[in-house]
Amino acid sequence: MQEVRTRFAPSPTGYLHLGGLRTALYTYLLARKNKGKFILRIEDTDQEREVPGAIELIYKSLRQAGLSYDEGPDMGGDYGPYIQSERKESYMPYALQLIESGDAYPCFCTKEELDQRRKTAQDKGETWKYDKKCLHIPKDEAKRRMQSGESFVIRQNIPEEGSASFDDMLFGHVEVPTNTLDDGVLIKADGLPTYNFANVIDDHLMKISHVTRGTEYLSSAPKYNLLYKALGWEPPLYLHLPVVMKDATRKLSKRYGDPSFEDLLEMGYVREAIINFIALLGWSPGDDREFFTLKELEEVFSIEGLNKSPAIFDMNKLTWFNGEYIRKMPFEDYLTMAEPWFDKELKGTGIDYRYLAQLMQGRTEVFNRIPETINFLKTQPDYELTLFEHKKSKSTQESSLNALEFMLLVLEGIDNWSETALHDNMIGAIKEAGLKNATVLWPVRIAISGLASTPGGAVEIAYLLGKEETLRRIKNAIERLRN
Ligand code: GLU
Repeated sequence: MQEVRTRFAPSPTGYLHLGGLRTALYTYLLARKNKGKFILRIEDTDQEREVPGAIELIYKSLRQAGLSYDEGPDMGGDYGPYIQSERKESYMPYALQLIESGDAYPCFCTKEELDQRRKTAQDKGETWKYDKKCLHIPKDEAKRRMQSGESFVIRQNIPEEGSASFDDMLFGHVEVPTNTLDDGVLIKADGLPTYNFANVIDDHLMKISHVTRGTEYLSSAPKYNLLYKALGWEPPLYLHLPVVMKDATRKLSKRYGDPSFEDLLEMGYVREAIINFIALLGWSPGDDREFFTLKELEEVFSIEGLNKSPAIFDMNKLTWFNGEYIRKMPFEDYLTMAEPWFDKELKGTGIDYRYLAQLMQGRTEVFNRIPETINFLKTQPDYELTLFEHKKSKSTQESSLNALEFMLLVLEGIDNWSETALHDNMIGAIKEAGLKNATVLWPVRIAISGLASTPGGAVEIAYLLGKEETLRRIKNAIERLRN
């Protein structure tokens, strides 16, 4: 069997969007599953669309995602260069070969001429496609004009009759009448190939076995197959992947503010969770298992599990997924990842991060939500006294005032402000007084947090705040409840 060689072939037009990341992931998995090679190729022949820095961003994103490639621009390999603009010389010989065989021809029409003829066609209500005018220039004359320095492009000569087809591993047999296809440009006036030509030449020269890419290329693939045929090459296996949608009506897109992979990482989504989640956007293992490491995906991924219909990216589901990953991660990892987010609110306060992390790990869904959750430790929010009223703990404003006055005395007497000391003293005093834990601890927690819901209870928060701040907040509450 032929070695499996897959390639991810992004154009450096910006950040790596999530649809692109998913294509990269499936392409990577297909190679790993079959003990093959995963190759990165940069498709930068449309230099007008190129965004500076985008190539480096692709390397970085793939690295962060853990999708290591075996060959690529910054890796080397036997089939390089892996950046198309550095392969400029590779394409022309094949284009000339196609001219020789009659499968391509040089076209000298200027932009103005083309605009004019397009307009005439459109005025007549016809859909414009190139009218093969330059196909009829005698070969010798065409050759002479090409050598004279006149500007030209090279077009594919699509047969006027018959059909073109290819077989897709997901979508099956795709066949179109050739008269619906345009004589597209293979080599542009600047000598660089278009995507339509470069993908064929490079996939062949790089011995790619499986071509994976978005369904937007499904309708052009018959044309590519005509080129393989004309060059006498065996076409690769094709796998077109359905788009990732934001909802039923539109594609996921940065333009509408949908996050890129980098954005998600910055927001505090965990890379393993993103990868796991993305893998399930259009692929299923065949049972209802949901959690996979990248290593596990490398084992279980299969083309049979792919879904033909567009996948919908559900941010809430990702967030839930992320929370699951955070809860399961080793504590030390959590602490390391949480620290910069703690710093945003608490830097310099001396608050015990390790202790805080223990309270926070179970309730962090996304790291960027940490600051708003812990902000009360730095600044107590304004709160209504009605917050002291709580049915379950039988608290009223009056009982809360009593409880706080009582606790103030207990807390004032604690010198060694440790969690254990706080716990033993507070619980011990409550018991001795014959009171109920909830009746006392509810108002204390409200008084020192100002929030109905907090990470940790009265003891934990009191410990984190320290003696001075805890007492200050309790006195303040007593003051307010008295008036
Ligand atoms: N360069 C193309 C793009 O970024 C990729 C198409 C392919 O993988 O063949 O859309």
